[in-house]
Amino acid sequence: EAAPQGISEELKEHYAQLIEQVRASRQQYYVDDAPTISDAAYDAMYRELEELEALHPEIVANDSPTQEVGGEVSTAFAPVVHLSRMYSLEDVFSIEELKAWFEKTEANATRIAGEKPQWLTELKIDGLAINLLYRKGKLVRAATRGDGTTGEDVTHNVLTIKSIPTQLAGKDWPEEVEVRGEIFISSADFKKLNEGIVEEGRAPFANPRNAAAGSLRQKDAAVTARRPLSMFVHGIGAQTGLDIQTQAQTYDQLKEWGLPVSPYSKVLTTLDEILEFIEKYGEQRHSLVHEIDGIVIKVNHFRTQNQLGYTSRVPRWAVAYKYPPEEVNTKLLDIQVNV
Ligand code: NAD
Repeated sequence: EAAPQGISEELKEHYAQLIEQVRASRQQYYVDDAPTISDAAYDAMYRELEELEALHPEIVANDSPTQEVGGEVSTAFAPVVHLSRMYSLEDVFSIEELKAWFEKTEANATRIAGEKPQWLTELKIDGLAINLLYRKGKLVRAATRGDGTTGEDVTHNVLTIKSIPTQLAGKDWPEEVEVRGEIFISSADFKKLNEGIVEEGRAPFANPRNAAAGSLRQKDAAVTARRPLSMFVHGIGAQTGLDIQTQAQTYDQLKEWGLPVSPYSKVLTTLDEILEFIEKYGEQRHSLVHEIDGIVIKVNHFRTQNQLGYTSRVPRWAVAYKYPPEEVNTKLLDIQVNV
């Protein structure tokens, strides 16, 4: 490959190193379920990579981690090609960044729809994404997000999770529908799980996300069956003939089918309301059912969502506001991680 012009060897080397570090961390986090650095440290490194690429667009490698959904797929599981792609979320780390994102997106959405959009605002559950395929109301496949195109087949493991229906309730389900959600371990269950592990003399899990991912991605579904996994839905993928126009209506429908829907979501209309929501859950962060690492804000109407579209990595119609990192996370990561 021809070397980009006008970029020093030193910068090129730094760029290559950053990419290498991001890749290694992703492997540890997504494939091994054993991160060695905190999420805040990872986010800072990823942000540095993004900023370097923004300053020097000619340096951007086609396979840079900024151009793809990060989630390498383990060969321990059969690959599953999702019917429709799964994406990550664009992160903002401050209220200023959120405001800038909001103003830009509100203006674009208003231009498209002829009126101001509504915003489905919800908690960012600290777990791992799952894609459930229901055919004629029956759960036929479950896969992790993976790289967004191809995930890992974890059907047997998901079948052991009691809150995930193997048969949808009612009878107005479409021929096919992909239900997306987050698998997590509740804060109370996480505490109990780790206490049990410590009693057995083994190393505890670093955090609930890690415990959920490690528990779901087991070769032996009997191990998964003993772990207290839960799920909340946060969207749908491919579907045949469902007449639904908004994110909020989707949650109502999924609830009717007996799927677990988060009780914390709200449809809001102004930035002030969103900021209030962020503040409220910032205060209650550690007294909720599950851990959260932020708030997700989505344009409510699908028509506007579709017109805003996607980058190769994230939807342009949603954003994740991340709460500032806390001391406790870095401390917890000093504990050896249980795999
Ligand atoms: P992300 O976790 O920031 O955001 C995308 C994901 O959020 C979605 O795929 C979905 O699974 C999830 N999500 C949770 N609640 C949701 C909701 N209500 N609506 C929609 N989606 C919801 O992005 P990512 O690409 O999965 O990974 C980045 C995250 O992983 C960062 O937090 C990063 O710190 C962490 N990470 C850490 C390491 C490490 O070494 N510590 C390495 C890689 C990634």
